[in-house]
Order: sequence, then structure tokens, then C-alpha cells
Amino acid sequence: MALLSLKGFTNRGEGEMDERGDQAFRKQETRGRWPEMGYAGALSFLRRRYSRDAANADVVVSGVPWDGATSNRSGCRMGPRAIRAASAETAQLNAFPWGFDPFETLRVIDWGDAWLDPHDPGSIPGAIEAHAAGILEAGAKMLTFGGDHFISYPLLRAHAARHGPLALIQFDAHGDLWPDRPGTVDHGTMMARAVSEGIIEAGRSAQVGIRTFHDSDEGLDILTAPFIHREGVRAAIEALRSRVGDAPVYISFDIDVLDPAFAPGTGTPVPGGLASWQALEIMRGLGGLNLVGMDLVEVSPPYDTSEITAIAAATIAHDWLCLLAEKAGATRVPVGRL
Ligand code: MN
Ligand code: MN
Repeated sequence: MALLSLKGFTNRGEGEMDERGDQAFRKQETRGRWPEMGYAGALSFLRRRYSRDAANADVVVSGVPWDGATSNRSGCRMGPRAIRAASAETAQLNAFPWGFDPFETLRVIDWGDAWLDPHDPGSIPGAIEAHAAGILEAGAKMLTFGGDHFISYPLLRAHAARHGPLALIQFDAHGDLWPDRPGTVDHGTMMARAVSEGIIEAGRSAQVGIRTFHDSDEGLDILTAPFIHREGVRAAIEALRSRVGDAPVYISFDIDVLDPAFAPGTGTPVPGGLASWQALEIMRGLGGLNLVGMDLVEVSPPYDTSEITAIAAATIAHDWLCLLAEKAGATRVPVGRL
């Protein structure tokens, strides 16, 4: 049974006694995984080992706990911690619908959280960009948890410095294209700034799930939530794939793209959004693209209920890692009718 016999791993606690539990600080090998108790043990994202050795990682997971740019409800500075906790159960299950263990193929470490001084807000954008630049210069890709959506701006700057202008796929209820005032720290204007600065190549970029109005689309392809509800995820996937082509793709996932029923724990919820299954289906349709980085932002645990939002976030981020693993050679295990 493939589901219970993946190499080096079982979800029933079998294995050598010294190779069970707390792999976040006990496991020496970056690849593979051990049995864990889903409800206990040291937390890291998907139980990856804590390390700052980005030079020996394919993907570095880190948190950017900053919510000083929010315009409504705050609290997403606590997002990274909640997403790590919510990932514990996902970490001990075989990846659905992939069937493989992405960590047999990919070396993924949890770097911990970027150090940010909340009492010196002017230092925050530069500190985030420096955090990202250091990891990218070591040759690793980044999976970053916010924090509010402003953190994507310094992250995009660092990625563009390495890859050139980026094809952005932004999942969001909001376009974050409101008129920008230079020097401000605002989670609703930074995509307009990124386009105007050439960090994002608008003609290769798209937004998904939008249900707020902006005077200008800034040249981006806007796939509204009603479009996806009416035309389906297949149409969205086709539009995104043809839009980005072979450009370096950065995925910025604002959890409020999901309907408040599927993501109550966020700062600026908007009804009429995507269901979790729609977002997952679209993500899973992006395989083979030149995926260079991802962030997942705006998870606000104080407004969450039953970890609904954090579990959705952890699952979506896990799927991005599976996309990378498949591109790096991991082979899917068939699972019924897909
Ligand atoms: Mn946003
Ligand atoms: Mn939003």
C-alpha cells in the first residue's frame, strides 16, 4: 500500500525509536521525514529542520511577522506561528493528490522568522529586503509567511534583483493597486508601486479572485472571483499559464482571496471569494512553470476559528512545495480518479 509505505516514513508511528518525533531540532538530514505526533512536539513548518544554512537548501521557509501596514483588523504578525502549528497534521500525512513525499526530492529548511524591530517601523522594509537578499544570494528559493501584504513589496524587490522583472500571480480579494504615496507603508498600494518600478512585468502578470474596484488595472490581467465562479478553475489555469509563459513566476497569496467562510482569520475579509478547493485546484494547475518564489500573507490568528484559515494556508503552501518537487523529479503515485 503506497499510502503507508513511503520510503523512510509511515504515518502510523512505526520506525526506529530514535527516529521519531521532534525532527525540527533532532533530525540531521534535511531530506526525508520521521513520524510525529500531530498534536505535540516542536513546531516548524511541516516539521522541517530549523537551520540557517540556505546554501544547502533548495527552499527556505521563513516568517516575516509584521502587520504595521494593515488598514483594518491587525493580528497577522502572528501568522507564521499559526501556520507552523497548522502544518503539523499535513506534515505526517502523505501529500494528496501527489502521493509522494516532497522532502525526499527537495531540501527544505525552516529558517525561523526574520528579525524585525517593531519599535523602529522605518527600518522594516529594508530589513525584510535584506533578509530575502541573503537567502536568495545563497541560491535557495523562498517560501515566506506574513505578516500583512506589504511584506511582499520588499520580497518582490529582492527577487527581481536576482531574476529580473517578475511575472506575478497574485491571489487576492484586493488588487492592492490603490494610488501609491512614495515612502508610505501600506498593504493596499504596493503592487502599483512594484509595477511602476518595473519589479513586476505587468504584461506577464495576473491577479486571481479579485472582488474590489480599482481605477486602473495597471496592465495586469484581472481574473475576478465572479469570472472564476462562472468559468471555472480550468479557464483560470489556462489564462494564468498563457499569461506568464516561461517568465520567472512569483506567487503572492493573500489568504483573503478565499471567501470569509473559508478564511475568517484575516484582516480585510470580502464576501464572494474562492472556496479552498478552487484555490487548491488553481495552484495545482501551475505545475511546470518557472516558479521562483512564494509568499502567503494576511493570516490573522486572533480572528481565526478552529484554525480554519491557518490550515488552509499551510495546505496551499504545502502544495507549492509539491509543485517544485514534481518539477525536480518527484513522481506522482496514482490515487483513484483525479
Ligand atoms: Mn493583498
Ligand atoms: Mn486582500
